[in-house]
Amino acid sequence: MNQDNNKRPGVPEPPRPDGRSLIMLVLFLLAMMFMYFNIRNMTSPRTVESTYTDLTKNLEKDNVKALDFDTGSNEVLFQLKSGEARYRIKVNSELGSGLVQEAAKRQIPSNVTTSTDFLTILLNILPVLFMVVFFVFMFRMITRTMNSKGGIMGLGKNTAKLYEKSTGVSFKDVAAQEEAKESLTEIVDFLHNPQKYADIGARLPKGALLVGPPGTGKTLLAKAVAGEANVPFFSQSGSAFVEMFVGMGAARVRDIFKEAEQKAPCIIFIDEIDAIGKSRENGGLPGGNDEREQTLNQLLAEMDGFDSTKGVVMLAATNRPEVLDKALLRPGRFDRRIIVDAPDLRGREAILRVHSKDVKMGDDVNLKELAQATPGAVGADLANIINEGALRAVKNGRQYVKQEDLMEAIEVVIAGQQKKDRIMSPKEKRIVSFHEIGHALVAALQKNTDPVVKITIIPRTMGSLGYTLQVPMDDKYLMSKEEILTEISILLGGRAAEEVEFGSITTGAANDIERATAMARKMISMYGMSDTFDMMALESATNAYLDGRPVSNVSPETQTKLDLETKEIIKKCHERAVALLRANRDLLTKASEKLLEKETLSGQELVDIIKEFKGEDFIKESHENDPKDKQSGEGIRNLGGEDQLAPPVVDEPKAPQGPEEES
Ligand code: ADP
Ligand code: MG
Ligand code: ZN
Repeated sequence: MNQDNNKRPGVPEPPRPDGRSLIMLVLFLLAMMFMYFNIRNMTSPRTVESTYTDLTKNLEKDNVKALDFDTGSNEVLFQLKSGEARYRIKVNSELGSGLVQEAAKRQIPSNVTTSTDFLTILLNILPVLFMVVFFVFMFRMITRTMNSKGGIMGLGKNTAKLYEKSTGVSFKDVAAQEEAKESLTEIVDFLHNPQKYADIGARLPKGALLVGPPGTGKTLLAKAVAGEANVPFFSQSGSAFVEMFVGMGAARVRDIFKEAEQKAPCIIFIDEIDAIGKSRENGGLPGGNDEREQTLNQLLAEMDGFDSTKGVVMLAATNRPEVLDKALLRPGRFDRRIIVDAPDLRGREAILRVHSKDVKMGDDVNLKELAQATPGAVGADLANIINEGALRAVKNGRQYVKQEDLMEAIEVVIAGQQKKDRIMSPKEKRIVSFHEIGHALVAALQKNTDPVVKITIIPRTMGSLGYTLQVPMDDKYLMSKEEILTEISILLGGRAAEEVEFGSITTGAANDIERATAMARKMISMYGMSDTFDMMALESATNAYLDGRPVSNVSPETQTKLDLETKEIIKKCHERAVALLRANRDLLTKASEKLLEKETLSGQELVDIIKEFKGEDFIKESHENDPKDKQSGEGIRNLGGEDQLAPPVVDEPKAPQGPEEES
């Protein structure tokens, strides 16, 4: 069930920085001051009120032993030769200095002093006192941060703990993420026996990045790796670093690595790494977030520095891989990406099963039906649904959970959190199915395209509806004109399918259109692939550090022509996609319905459907290679989703203005 993340056994709760001791300190200081003044008053001789006439009389009689004028309180204090008592009279400053002069004339020891009373002292001293208290407080915080157990204690609440001897989570606790688990088993094996790898001279990736929407089980997976390998688990959330005083984040990173090296083999896990790993290139005010940058630099330095054969493995999680600094993703750092996607129908059922293990379920509970009712829900939602269902059963005084409890819980969890937009209506789902199959078919039915490996209508991130993945068979550095046109038609295939099937169009293609347009425009303006302009550079790429928009090199009139020609290309590709899908209408319908039913289709499943309609040979002809062994994260192109990867790189030697090579 939903584990409470804040308390785990075996980790001593650190003492909280308490306000009580501070208050005590202030009270103590005040008490000291009181005592000081009282004692002074008690030990000094008795002071008696007197009058001005009394004093002048005694002065005349030469009966005064000493006289002081206190300008602070405007009091004259005097002692008589005949006695120990001190007398005090209230005067104004003129009178006071007159009396002092008078006394001096008569050779009476006299003084002008400026005393202040207790309140004045207090008011003067208070700011200083506050400063002292503040510094003491700061000092204690900092020393605590540095010296506490493990040397890595935080200030915020989310840093309450970060070292676990054993997480107690295993792969069994993580359902649905089979692919991710498979990628991680290698790391587990490595942690079991680093020597085996070292002997051969194999180097494992130093770090793996878990990428996926919130609540899909990234944190859980990281813990499961530690649990499976039975090694210690250091974890720290990225945002916790940034909350700290300048310099502390970097120091913390250093500490973690130092500690980890002693405890190796072990895992260092940085959750929500985008908080520190945000790209330094763009955005941010000048000067930026120094703390973040320092922390990031330290992290990069430590990752380069540590010896991976020792068995320290870095894991990190993020739901925004696109904002990460490129430096983090370079080889030797987080060079392995593990996709942790929202679960499909089968996955959701599996997750529900895991979480219902510890809950008493009635006979009528049908987890499959529950899974069907929750498209778009992620692991955290499903765990929550089971728990809400159990709570409802208790509320209704039952000993076990009924199906209606769980169905009710869907409402509570999904609607209650206003995640409604993640659940599509059946009609929307149908449209998205056709859209994605449109992309996939336009790709699969044309020659020389990359094989489709996955099509899904499960939202990947908030706002995206589905996506189609193609995996390039070879690394491509150059693309021919024909390939770009094919690529554009694939991008437009989604919308084309909507047109063919529904006769109406939706907003779902915005991202496709944007990318297709950018590609078409570049063909003409940068790659010299148009007849009109031949090899003229109409636009040049700008510094990516600026806003990344190309700058125009030509007159507004020529720009207009460029726009028109771009439109022509788009239109042709659009027509090509529509024609292709019209000609294969049955195939489109069949495949879309299959996707609608299963939510995710593998490349093989798509191929099977195509074979049904087109025969064995068709597939062989268009794709000779088997994409199966190329499913590494790198190079995957995401069609129909949103963001993700930039359009393919075409001809990119970025030689500055140097001498041209002749050819
Ligand atoms: P993320 O880090 O991806 O945001 P978490 O790992 O924090 O998600 O998941 C939150 C909770 O949701 C987990 O503690 C677990 O109870 C549940 N959960 C999420 N994904 C899964 C899954 N694949 N299998 C089982 N439980 C899951
Ligand atoms: Mg998490
Ligand atoms: Zn699309």
